[in-house]
Amino acid sequence: MDLTAFRAAIGDIPQQDHPKIVQQKSRDHYWYSPRLKAELDHVTAQLVVTPRDQADVVTILAAAFKTRVPVTPRGAGTGNYGQAMPLSGGVILDLTSLDRIISVGKDRVRAEAGVILEKLDEQTKEAVGGEMRFHPSTYRMATLGGFIAGGSGGVGSIRWGGLRNFGNILGLRVITCEETPRILDLTGPDILKVAHAYGTNGIIVEAEMPLTASYEWVDVMVGFESIMDACAFGEQAARQDGMLFKEIAPVAAPLPHDWFNRHRPYIKHRDQSVVLMMVAPVAVPALMDLIAFHKADLLLRSDTLPEDEKKKLPPVYELAWNHTTLRGLKLDPGITYLQTQYPDLAHVKWAVDTFGDEMPMHIEMGRFDGRVVFSGLPIVRYTNEERLEEIIRLHEANGCLVFNPHRYTLEEGGMKKTDRDQLEFKKQADPKGILNPGKMIAWDDPDFDFDSGRAWLFDGLKTLGAA
Ligand SMILES: Cc1cc2nc3c(=O)[nH]c(=O)nc-3n(C[C@H](O)[C@H](O)[C@H](O)COP(=O)(O)OP(=O)(O)OC[C@H]3O[C@@H](n4cnc5c(N)ncnc54)[C@H](O)[C@@H]3O)c2cc1C
Repeated sequence: MDLTAFRAAIGDIPQQDHPKIVQQKSRDHYWYSPRLKAELDHVTAQLVVTPRDQADVVTILAAAFKTRVPVTPRGAGTGNYGQAMPLSGGVILDLTSLDRIISVGKDRVRAEAGVILEKLDEQTKEAVGGEMRFHPSTYRMATLGGFIAGGSGGVGSIRWGGLRNFGNILGLRVITCEETPRILDLTGPDILKVAHAYGTNGIIVEAEMPLTASYEWVDVMVGFESIMDACAFGEQAARQDGMLFKEIAPVAAPLPHDWFNRHRPYIKHRDQSVVLMMVAPVAVPALMDLIAFHKADLLLRSDTLPEDEKKKLPPVYELAWNHTTLRGLKLDPGITYLQTQYPDLAHVKWAVDTFGDEMPMHIEMGRFDGRVVFSGLPIVRYTNEERLEEIIRLHEANGCLVFNPHRYTLEEGGMKKTDRDQLEFKKQADPKGILNPGKMIAWDDPDFDFDSGRAWLFDGLKTLGAA
């Protein structure tokens, strides 16, 4: 790579080479994983560039192509698999200045990739009374482009599924990394070539997203004597077609009491498991009936709290998804987590009975392909890597999917196979492999054997000084 020539070629586009700032922008939430922490701690780029507009992105990608400088795109850096970390060094492409909202319609919004999701919703609520169908629990930080390239679903997935479900992204504008970068408008199935590709095969500069009606969501917390009672209630609530929920998350004792500091006064005792919920105001009376039917404990209901008390509490979604793990890590750096999917309640029970307090359960109820599913984000009281691998193996042997959050590649974290469409698109959009190197195994080693049990180690990491 020729960084000097790269800098000369991009002219007055804002750049930052202070090592501390560059290092800070070279990190995401990779430290969620003890394995990724050990593997990626030393990783840093040499330069951060911040395009002011889409024309700047074209200039930067043309310069990177010519000078062979690796480019790793970045939104807010909240990804937690090291997705936004520059494994070959080079340049961090900070997209946060591309934050214009281009158009808002009754049922859709078009915006630039760097817009923060909460800001996007503020504008659409005001303009048309609409909001994004779902968002990560990092709503107040994460960018639209980072969510599409690195995320999968979240708050609202109980109703709308995930980003990879057809119809949840309407269009993407992508810039390629070629001698003369092309600006491509992708629609329909082409969207999946770039969505959740970690920015390895094109830079997303604009996205068009569908909207749904916005509500003053009511936060609710319900208490149970056991996590299985909480999950049974969560499943029944999720199946209520007449009730509108945005979030349903059973969390096992003692996590709610030990980790949800501000909510602790509402929890009766340390052994109480809870279900965290967001419900539309119109569905609150029906939810109260459901709680009564289950003889459960209504612990908190935000619409009846005095205003000053309500203000002291974080929104319930910031106790859920990976925020549960984050709250735990702040208090106990010895924990980690897994991402699983349990086909039904019986499989959740198997996991709860098998691992007990070594793996306190956290479920996110979701709806995928029309079915209610138990997406697990169980906490693991970490002892060593061998045991973590064993827990994963036992899950797989018992018919439970694991999306390994302790790997930085697209393939190992997800489907453990090559996404041919994404690979083919990369050949056209990034023929020199400049974009986020090391994240797509199929590009670097098409013969990698996923059945070998061996974890992939990208060569560029060695260049940067890894063992
Ligand atoms: C506390 C916590 C909670 C979380 N909860 C959720 C959740 O509920 N659901 C969920 O799906 N994820 C969740 N995540 C993961 C992460 O927050 C989301 O994926 C988030 O949407 C990432 O947005 P970001 O702007 O921070 O992206 P970044 O972390 O900056 O980037 C993510 C990936 O996208 C690439 N990228 C960024 N911008 C672009 C672009 N414009 N074009 C091409 N590639 C790009 C990066 O290179 C990287 O590979 C959570 C993470 C944390 C730490």
